[in-house]
Amino acid sequence: MSETRSEINQLGEFGLIDRIHEKFSLRNPSSLTGIGDDAAVIDAGNECVLISTDMLVEGIHFDLSYTPIHHLGYKAVAVNVSDIAAMNGRAEQITVSIALSNRFSVEAVDALYAGIKAACENYKVDLVGGDTTSSSSGLVISITAIGRARKETISYRNGAKPNDILCVTGDLGGAFTGLQVLAREKEVYLTNPDMQPNLEKYEYMVGRQLKPEARTDIVFDLEEAGVKPTSMIDISDGLASELFHIAKNSGVGFRIYEDKIPIDHATYETAVEFKLDPITCALNGGEDYELLFTIAKSDQEKIKNHPDIHFIGYVHERKGENVLITKQGNAVPVRAQGWDHFK
Ligand code: ADP
Ligand code: MG
Repeated sequence: MSETRSEINQLGEFGLIDRIHEKFSLRNPSSLTGIGDDAAVIDAGNECVLISTDMLVEGIHFDLSYTPIHHLGYKAVAVNVSDIAAMNGRAEQITVSIALSNRFSVEAVDALYAGIKAACENYKVDLVGGDTTSSSSGLVISITAIGRARKETISYRNGAKPNDILCVTGDLGGAFTGLQVLAREKEVYLTNPDMQPNLEKYEYMVGRQLKPEARTDIVFDLEEAGVKPTSMIDISDGLASELFHIAKNSGVGFRIYEDKIPIDHATYETAVEFKLDPITCALNGGEDYELLFTIAKSDQEKIKNHPDIHFIGYVHERKGENVLITKQGNAVPVRAQGWDHFK
């Protein structure tokens, strides 16, 4: 054993995953895709099984002082269903594993599972197992989603081609500004517990943070329109970070236009109120769980009237040249700045 000790924050989350990935290779022919996409792809005969897992840790991913626990249950399912949608697949089952301390009551667990159940009903998935254990500190929830897709319909992060159109669903930056609102209200409450938080004005963003939805509707709409994305990823860490994943894995570059990036007006106003640049919130704020995908230019016509799909730019062959064209027409390099929990 070597004596060296390296700090995890030197590598970051993605560096650490790459380091783990390097040490393993796939030995079973049924393991079509392993580490490196939104879900693993397993050959299961006529169709493929998609598997994705995500863990939420109290104090890192959620703060129970402002997160209703049933919302947390819903969100934990939604973020996993979102990863299956990002493969252009449909989630059908989940397993749920929880670690709890004695700080949690039976009623709290009931509320958590009421949220999980609501999500199961909404996304039409079945809870088929899990694990329950104790925790010495906070709550940990780990969910695995299992989905299905035909092999030829699966969209990977590595399929973007030069001249493809970059598409994003919904609007961005809402979940991040919602988090700023909640954090501010918590501070106000801690200094003056008699103050009642007034969240009405911020309802949209707070909802985006506490109760995100997986865009399973888009997977359906794209199929209806006869469009298969050439690449796809869900936006968990922020648009910039996800664009970089697609660009890196596809060996391409991208050009996006500031005035095309969808930002809700309430998000915009709240960002300004918090002295944040709305475009930075959209690019680097996380947890919107919208879909980012590329389509062949010839498919653009088929979805151009979809109210919730926005064309934000295009793909080019110059790998590493990732540019944002500002409203003033300046070209600025896009920096990826995803969440880094090891900072
Ligand atoms: P997402 O944001 O879509 O959930 P992640 O960035 O969490 O994706 O993970 C990227 C890829 O790395 C996925 O294929 C995931 O399964 C894999 N991965 C993440 N952490 C580990 C780990 N500790 N061991 C093995 N694979 C991992
Ligand atoms: Mg993902």
